[in-house]
Order: sequence, then structure tokens, then C-alpha cells
Amino acid sequence: MDLTSLRSHNDRTVLRLVRSGALSRASIAEQAELTPQAVSKIVARLIAAGLLEETGAVRDGGRGKPRRSLRLVADGAFAYGAYVDRDELRVVKLDLTGEPVSSSVVPLPPMFTPSDVLAALEPLVEPDPKVLGLGIGIAGPLDFRDGVVSPNGLPGWSAVPLRALVSERLGLPVVVDKDTNAAVLAEAWRRPLQDAALVFVGTGLGVGLFLGGEVHRGTRSGAGEFGHTTIQLDGPLCVCGRRGCIEAVHAATTGVDAARVIAAAVTNLVQLLDLDQIVLSGRKVLASPDLYLRAMPEVDVSVTEFGADLVPIGAGLLILGELF
Ligand SMILES: [Zn+2]
Repeated sequence: MDLTSLRSHNDRTVLRLVRSGALSRASIAEQAELTPQAVSKIVARLIAAGLLEETGAVRDGGRGKPRRSLRLVADGAFAYGAYVDRDELRVVKLDLTGEPVSSSVVPLPPMFTPSDVLAALEPLVEPDPKVLGLGIGIAGPLDFRDGVVSPNGLPGWSAVPLRALVSERLGLPVVVDKDTNAAVLAEAWRRPLQDAALVFVGTGLGVGLFLGGEVHRGTRSGAGEFGHTTIQLDGPLCVCGRRGCIEAVHAATTGVDAARVIAAAVTNLVQLLDLDQIVLSGRKVLASPDLYLRAMPEVDVSVTEFGADLVPIGAGLLILGELF
């Protein structure tokens, strides 16, 4: 689907307002500060594109004639999201409302190559003209702008042009971002976040930072390499080549001690950035959520409700979010 013509600021504003609740054209005009005529034109275009539909009549109050309200057409467009983890590939398909309509996971072989990922991905992404693109979450470091990745913990992956490789193979627009950024985006889609960190404790350890209401990637897309900050000078060797990183110290501990390592690191993060929300995620946390929750400092801490599909859902939202 070519939605290039629908990505104007006003189109996105209307889609965003409708996403927040079924609305009439009149209330969209009021909230978007657009004229009713402009809103009628935009809505007609979005209905023609199959993204909006009219629902039952609603009365906005008063005795005027009932107004038709609008809602998103869930199957009007789709996006795929993928998570290249260190031992498996997860893929979800999201509908226009951001709800997953399918989800799959396949193992990746030890020391897998970019070709292995392409081969695993291809059968999981079905050709469909309504698919807008594929978002991929993977460990950093990477360059968000050109989609070139050199992920820690994946030996042999150095400056891999993942976005270009996947886009060419699948014939779809592709966006590549850090797994942790995709994860925090999924959380922010579900509810408003202001200054928050998504702490991801999986095969690796990282944070997705959401600062001032936006994903914070940093100058070189390097923000959030939280797992590779040093907490023990003579600590265990890490996959990044240094010693005593939080990730390596956490991996060398178990149970309550492992949760305490994360809690100490999260406390540092809260001190540094004055965060108001922390969301815990990743398979280690999901395996024993209470253990990690109990160890945390006194801020608003919760465990993700997206489960194991958090990263692929957020990766799909990298694509879908361009409409809103
Ligand atoms: Zn490290």
C-alpha cells in the first residue's frame, strides 16, 4: 500500500484523534483546530484509503441531527514487527489499531549469520498489499538512520546493512532500531509516558529511554547501552570485551542477588535522569517478576503487560506509528 500521500501532518492528526476514541467530524475539527470543510476533505480521503470508517450515529448533545462518528478500520493496513534475539526470531503482524493479529517464534542457530536471519524471516512475512513495512528490533550498537548494525553478543556481525538486506529480500520498507527502543515505544503506545525507562533483562541487558515524551536515541543512536556501564572494575568479562559491566555481573549472579544488581543499576538511572516510571521486561523478569519487583527502588515500577512479544510489537509500531 502506498500511503505516501496520506502522511501529511493533518492526516496524521486526524488518525491520531480517531485512535484516541471514536469521534465525529465536528469534534475532530474542534480538537485539531481545523475548519469543518478541511476535516471533511481529510476524512473523505482517509475513508477512500480504507483507513477510517463511519460507525453508528452519536448525539454530541443538543437536539441537532445525530452525527456519524469515525473509527479506524482495523484491517485497513498492517505492519510486521520482528525481534532478532540472540537465540530466536519473533515476528508479529499488527493491524492498524496496533493489535497483534498473528505471532510466531522460531529458533536461530548458534552463531547465526545475517543470511540465517533472512532465511528465517522470509516465510514469516506474507506478501500483502496492505502491509506498510517491517520494523526490526535488535541489540545495539546500531545506526538508526541507515539501519547498519553491529550487535553485542552476535559474533561475526560487524557493520551489517540489515535494513538494506531485509528490504531487498522482502520488497518492503524496513526500519531497524534497538530492541529496547522498540520495547519502550510499545509501552508508550499503550499509555502516555513522560520520563520513563524500559529496563530489558533478557539475553542481554539494556534500557529504552523515553524522555520528554519521545524515544531518546542519542547522537549516534547509542543511548541506552545501560548493560555495558561498569559497576565492578575487576568484574567478569562481558560480551562487549570489557570487564564488570552490569550485564556481565548480572549474568554471573542468580536469584535475589541478580535482582539486587538490577535494582542498584536502576537506582543509579533514576538518580541520573529523574525518571517517574520504570517498566521491567525481558525473559529473566518475566520468569520471576516478583523477585525483580521487590528489589526495585521506590518509584513507579511495573512489569510489562506485553509479555514475550514486547519487542516485536514495538518494532511493528516503528512502521505503524508513521501514520499517527
Ligand atoms: Zn559489556
